[in-house]
Amino acid sequence: MIKIGVLALQGAVREHVKSLQAPDVEVKVVKRVEQLAELDGLVFPGGESTTMRRLVGKYGFFEPLQQFAEAGKPVFGTCAGLILMAEDIKGEPRGYLQLMDMEVQRNAFGRQRESFETKLFVKDVGEEVEAVFIRAPLITGVGKEVDVLSEYEGEIVAARQSHLLACSFHPELTEDARFHQYFVQMVRESKETTADSMAVT
Ligand code: GLN
Repeated sequence: MIKIGVLALQGAVREHVKSLQAPDVEVKVVKRVEQLAELDGLVFPGGESTTMRRLVGKYGFFEPLQQFAEAGKPVFGTCAGLILMAEDIKGEPRGYLQLMDMEVQRNAFGRQRESFETKLFVKDVGEEVEAVFIRAPLITGVGKEVDVLSEYEGEIVAARQSHLLACSFHPELTEDARFHQYFVQMVRESKETTADSMAVT
C-alpha cells in the first residue's frame, strides 16, 4: 500500500480524497505535522492561499512541508496549493514554501472569467482532461528543470519538476480522475525507487 495525504487546513479536501482512490492507495486527511512521517506523497488543495499560508505557519507546517519535499517525496499542488509551492509570486518579494522553480500570478484571469470549465490536453495524462478554474493563478515562468504539461490559451496551467506536480485548476471538482491518478503513479514510482535504493545500502 502507498499512503497519500491531503493537507486539510482549508479548502476542498473530500474531493481530493475521492479522486486519489485506487486499490493500493490509502488516503489520509492531514491535520497534524506528526502525520507527515507516514506518508509517501501529499496533496496541497485549492482554497485561499493567503489563508492557507497563515494556517501553515500557525500549525507549524512550514519547515516540515519543505523537508517533506526535500526528501524527494511527491507533492501535488492545485490552485492555491500551486501558489504555496512556487519559488516566486508576481508582485510579492518572494514565494512561500519555494519548492518549485516557477513564477505564478494569482487571480490571473480577472473578474470576467473568475470561474469556468474547460477540457485540456495534458502531456502524459491525456486528451480532453476536465478542468475547473476558480479565481485561478497562472504559471508565468518556469525554470529549466520544469516540464510544462498543459497550456490554456498559450498560458501555462500545469507543470512538473521531478517529484513535484502543480496545476492552476481543480481536477478534483470533476469526475475525471486522470490527473490525480497520474500523481498516484508518481508516488508509486517514487516509493519503488526509495525501496530499491534502501535495498542496495
Ligand atoms: N485565488 C486563490 C488564491 O489566490 C486561489 C483560488 C483557488 O484555489 N481556487 O489563493
